[in-house]
Parts: sequence; structure tokens; C-alpha cells
Amino acid sequence: MGDQQSMFAILAAFYALECLMWLPRGSVVFSAWFQHFARRAPGEFLGNFRGAMVVRPIFPFGSVFQVMPMPIAISPTGIAFSPVTPVNPEEVIISNGEFLQWKDINNIRSRGKAVQINNIDRWKAPSPTIAVAMAAQLNTLLSAPEEARDDVIQQQMAESFDAKAIGQRADEAQSKGRTLAVLGTILFVFVNCALLPMAFSLAFTDVWIWIIGATLLQTTSITILFWRAHKQLYPHSGDERFTAGLTMLLFAPAAMRAKDLITAPALTGFHPLPTAAHLSPRTVKSYARFILRELKWAPSPQTSSEAASTIRWHKEELSLAIIRCCTGQGWDPVDLAKPPPPADPESRSYCPRCLSEFVTETGNCSPCGNVKLQPLVIDAPNQST
Ligand SMILES: [Zn+2]
Repeated sequence: MGDQQSMFAILAAFYALECLMWLPRGSVVFSAWFQHFARRAPGEFLGNFRGAMVVRPIFPFGSVFQVMPMPIAISPTGIAFSPVTPVNPEEVIISNGEFLQWKDINNIRSRGKAVQINNIDRWKAPSPTIAVAMAAQLNTLLSAPEEARDDVIQQQMAESFDAKAIGQRADEAQSKGRTLAVLGTILFVFVNCALLPMAFSLAFTDVWIWIIGATLLQTTSITILFWRAHKQLYPHSGDERFTAGLTMLLFAPAAMRAKDLITAPALTGFHPLPTAAHLSPRTVKSYARFILRELKWAPSPQTSSEAASTIRWHKEELSLAIIRCCTGQGWDPVDLAKPPPPADPESRSYCPRCLSEFVTETGNCSPCGNVKLQPLVIDAPNQST
């Protein structure tokens, strides 16, 4: 393979890398090739306990939204550094047991993808823009008068379940990213479908200047459009805008994926359940069942009594919001909590968290944190006693 072929092969390889995105544990990605979004969780692919790689839609006209609830519990008293409930199957809650009262918090800010509290990195968001939004949300609580803080938390909770706002925000991001998707696709076809195959049969010696000029013209157009759209949607994310803009100006594979940087952080602050109801309605009911089971049965981490009290307070507020969300969809939360019909007539009990069935009458499900088994009624399989 000569230098000419190698260069285009390397560009194609870099584009393949651009299609990968790092997804922290505790976050959810909604991705679509065209219109129908699929909900995906960080799995095992190139992963560790912090997160894993997820493959984005291969072509630039696909869409991606990332949603990550803050991995902390919040109450009018303070912050417990523990997620309230898993948002993905087989997700393990990792908590350091720490608790900070609001009066002991001096500053909250973002640094790159990290959210810092009192100048200490507390967690990493999927992107710098998401970290900026998370820090802003916490700063609103920090600056609220002590006596009004519970109202502000409840207001933020209600806003995170606002179905209308989710729809408007998603539509706005999609709309602003549409032209970028078209230009990204044209650039993708130009480089990967035209120049790459031609590089193996033609010598570009006399036309390099035209190829470079045409590529720069496209990356410049994409960068200008990206800059405008990003500034309108994320006015406080100047650092990411500058870095990403410069990268896509000089590096065609990054420019092809410009739309992702417009849509991905757009639904920051919203809970995954109402987001799934808007983007992925075909599977949202089973997701609601999972969220309700986790809320009730996922074991709480070992923490101090102050942290446990904050986790409990946040969980109660979250439960109310989730039940309101289910009711708003026309579902009865009691029906959603019922176990499925027994898969085996020999089954006598089931785990209410993972729904595994057991032939014993009593016991615990150890993989779920020793959740007590519930009896199955064979004659009335849709009811738990
Ligand atoms: Zn289980």
C-alpha cells in the first residue's frame, strides 16, 4: 500500500474511532440510524467499572442523545455521594459513603468532563457540556436560601420529568443538527466512498491541491455551522466548542460527526424514563417496570446515617416523580410491579428485582443483594401475594 492509499485508509480508520463513544456507568444513550431510537447502556465492550464504549450510528445522519442522572443523592440537608437507583440492568451502585452538608460546600464547578465540589473531582460526565450543565444545576441549589432548598430540589425533579420540555429540547437539537448531518454525510461520501476507492486506482499527484481545497471548504462550512448551533444551545460550553471546532476544522473524520456534539448533550438534566417515553416508546413500558423494581428492591449502599437519610429523602421524591410519569403515560404502577406469568410450572417463588424464578418456597436471591424471594401463585400467574 503506497502513501496515498495509506493516508485514506488511516482517515477511514480514524472515522471508525470517531464512531465510538465512551459512556460512563449510570448513563443511557439513545441512538437512531434514522427515526427510531434504541436505548442502550454501557456494556462490556472496551469497558471497565467506570464505563464502556458504545458504537454510534455508523453514518453521520444518525442521531445520539446521552442522558445521565447525577450519581448523587440530594436533600435539603446536603449531598450523599451515591447514585439513588440504577438506571440500567446489572448496574452496580458504587458509593464512597461520603456526605457533605450544603453549608460545607464552598464551590461547585466543572473542569473538562469532571464535576468538582470543593475543588475535588467527584464524578465524570459523558462530555464537558454535560458537566457544565450538572455544575450549573447544583450551583442553583447551593445558592438557594436554606429554607427554600427543598422546593428548588422538587422543582428541578419535576423539570427533569417534563415530557413537553424533553420533546421541545430534542426537536430543537435535531433541527439545529440537520444541516450538519447533511454536510457530514456529503463529506463522508466524498472521503470514504469516492476518494478512498479512487486512491487505489488513480494517482492524485496533480489534483492534491483540489482535494485539499474541497475538503477544507467542507470542514470550514461544518465548523461555522457547528459553532453557531452549539453557541445557541450551550452558551456556557465555550471550551468544548473551541476544542471541537478546531478539531473538526482540521480533521475531516471529526467534522463528519459534528451533529453528535449538537444532539448528544441536549437532554442533560432529564431523567432517562421520560426521555425513553419520548424517544423510544416501543420499549419504554418494560423500562418503567425495571426502574420501579430497582427503586423498590435495589439494596442501598452502606453509608453514614446522614447520607442514608439523604438517599432515602431523594428516593422518596424520585419514586413520586416516577409514579407520576407512569400515570401520565396511562399505566397503573401497581400493574407494572406485578411479576410476569411463571415460565415453569415447577416455580414456586421469584426474585422481585431480577424476576428469576426458583423452585423453593422461600430464600434469597444473592446476585441481587439477598433480596427476599416472593411466592408465585401458579393458578393466578399475574398476581403476587
Ligand atoms: Zn434477583
